[in-house]
Amino acid sequence: MNVHIIYTGGTIGMVDSPQGLVPGADLAGWLSGLLPPGRPAAPGLESLASTSLTALEPLIDSSNATPESWQAIVEEVRAHAAEHPAEPIVVLHGTDTMAYTSAALSYALVGLEAPVIITGSQLPLGAEGSDAEANVLGALRAAISGRVSGVALFFGGLLLAGGRATKSSSWDFAGFASPVAPPLARAGSDGASWEWAQADGSAGSEASPTSPTARATPRPYARHDVVVLDMAPGITGARVAALLDPLPEAVILRAFGVGNVPSDEPGLTEAIERAIDGGAAVVVASQCHQAEVILGHYDTGDAIARAGAVGTADMTLEAAYAKAQFLLAQGLAGAELAEAMGRPIAGELSPRR
Ligand code: ASP
Repeated sequence: MNVHIIYTGGTIGMVDSPQGLVPGADLAGWLSGLLPPGRPAAPGLESLASTSLTALEPLIDSSNATPESWQAIVEEVRAHAAEHPAEPIVVLHGTDTMAYTSAALSYALVGLEAPVIITGSQLPLGAEGSDAEANVLGALRAAISGRVSGVALFFGGLLLAGGRATKSSSWDFAGFASPVAPPLARAGSDGASWEWAQADGSAGSEASPTSPTARATPRPYARHDVVVLDMAPGITGARVAALLDPLPEAVILRAFGVGNVPSDEPGLTEAIERAIDGGAAVVVASQCHQAEVILGHYDTGDAIARAGAVGTADMTLEAAYAKAQFLLAQGLAGAELAEAMGRPIAGELSPRR
């Protein structure tokens, strides 16, 4: 079996420069050293016959990624899948916004026959003790396992659903977590013996069959005006009003706990209500690492819920942000978009209990 690798940039392929780390490593050479033809395969990679590689232009630090960058990956994946529909794909990506990209890909690639596994590393592939090799071999093992459908992220021994991951550490090799949903699989200490969460092979981030927002040929990602707004003790109504002027298309409001805002603050709830009345979708997320947003559970979240704000339930910030961008790209806006945020597209959200 061939696995196609799409290199998008990130630390994994970076080298030192006077301005800090920049893309520039010989990735193709490194890969051929990692998987030398004719030599016995590494455990778990016996059925991997070859890899092919394309690199996106320009290679970027993922901190510079935009929805257009997500779209460039979607198009590269689709172009390869059009020729080789059954070939798994591994995407090499910077870690900083990898969880946003994995969620974005999971929405846009619903229905793709082969799995897409995204990975990167905390240290460049050439650095001593780098995690690049373990992560790339792990991503390849997941890709050819026959047990993943949809988009997944492999990092630090964990395979996570694409719409459930979050970057949890800027330095630890265990750099990603799935705060609410359990990992799809854990790699064994030898890298090969994996423990899968489900025995039946349906471990991927497949679209819910009832999801009307999952589309076989979605409209492309473009840059829509979605603002992420954090609450903090002492934030004023005037500040929130100023941050919402001019009005964005959607607001992800990172509130406290289950979705509470400082509702005693003069003008704060009103500023949010005005945004909703003006046509913005207001989606309330939580600052908790592990959360289930239940708007209206407390008085402090009730007024914005009554005005039309919706909660992200158990979505990560990355999944919610990419979903708002995806839905805007599909032409949804305002209350229609807010309503669609609550329906799962690709396993990013637990069904309502
Ligand atoms: N700044 C880098 C990036 O996201 C960090 C990394 O890859 O680990 O591209």
